[in-house]
Amino acid sequence: MKVVIMAGGRGTRISSVASDIPKPMIKIEGKPVLEHEIECLKNQGYTDLIITVSHLGNIIMDYFKDGSDFGVNIEYFVEETPLGNAGALFQLKDKLKEDFLLLNADAIFDIDFNRFVNYHKQKGGLVTLFTHPNSHPYDSGLIFTDENNSVLKWSAKEDERPEFYRNRVNAGLHVISPKVLDTVITTEKVDLDRQLLKPLAGTNQMYAYDSPEYVKDMGTPDRYESVCNDFKAGRVQAKNLHNKQKAIFLDRDGTINKYVGFLRDINDFELLPGVTQAIKKINESGYLAIVVTNQPVIARGEVTIGQLNEIHNKMETLLGKEGAYVDAIYYCPHHPHKGYEGEVPELKINCECRKPKPGMLIQASKDFNIDLSKSWMIGDSENDIQAGISAGCMTALIGKDNFNQNKTIDSLKEF
Ligand SMILES: [Zn+2]
Repeated sequence: MKVVIMAGGRGTRISSVASDIPKPMIKIEGKPVLEHEIECLKNQGYTDLIITVSHLGNIIMDYFKDGSDFGVNIEYFVEETPLGNAGALFQLKDKLKEDFLLLNADAIFDIDFNRFVNYHKQKGGLVTLFTHPNSHPYDSGLIFTDENNSVLKWSAKEDERPEFYRNRVNAGLHVISPKVLDTVITTEKVDLDRQLLKPLAGTNQMYAYDSPEYVKDMGTPDRYESVCNDFKAGRVQAKNLHNKQKAIFLDRDGTINKYVGFLRDINDFELLPGVTQAIKKINESGYLAIVVTNQPVIARGEVTIGQLNEIHNKMETLLGKEGAYVDAIYYCPHHPHKGYEGEVPELKINCECRKPKPGMLIQASKDFNIDLSKSWMIGDSENDIQAGISAGCMTALIGKDNFNQNKTIDSLKEF
């Protein structure tokens, strides 16, 4: 599969770090960002590269030449006149006969490309977007999908957005079919997001691929510094899903938000003190933050799945405002006891996911290649501790009782 790397962007906001070199040539641990990315691709068998360059592009071409010193084959497309970030693709149409990877070199990434490409093939759409939660969803473009991950709506940062939304951001990595280049464009410059991708929302031809792997923009000096620190600590490579992951599984009610009995009304959802800082710390540590919650209110017919999603959107929005995020949410909608008015009969079963059973943790371990023995389960009830122990995790109880947990704490913040 061919890989097109867009390396033509200007790094104006980061010019205090490096003003006379193009952004992809900024060094991390002594090597240009683009070189790290090329290594990541090469190691996974992606060696056929096209790099589009413009501003100060000669620096990139002089460094990488034909790619042979780096174990890959590189062709360049030099934008003489500014074509917008997708204009080059139309000029390259003859070389792009099959689905290709399109990567934005302004970010640092280390991801399992084969996993991403396989997902794209399985969905069969024209485009698959790499999406993830980030620490600043409020000023990022958001992707809204249906339950099959087909993109329904693309909300750019300038667009109006609902009060509560899922923290799901477009990361600038894509698998694209050459059919997208049949789009008739009449403008001279072509903007990838606004003119090619956004119009595919709602057509059932574009999917989102959710992944907690490391993709971070280095657009400001602060973000550049944090990327350098992560790189030094090994967190960038470690989060590639090809490698075993570590997770902190979090119960919801009583752990993240104030316990109010069965939470049915979104207005009753309130984060506990210190939770945002605690989850932010988890995010920075390299552990995945994964919510696992029993929600029998679904089976009992007291809350619909739509209402539950909205409650979770509120949680993600509140966390996102302060720079924290969860990597995934698993809920058990089942309940074993029959006899409630308005109940949903098909959910009234003895399932494998309701805590104290470890089903949700085991499912997450399969989805994200998690080593459960290096992971933690944190909650405020015996069910949480039992589920953690059954899954082979370490456990922490928020409370006073002894359920054979490894740690006893007063709050998530303390943990
Ligand atoms: Zn269940």
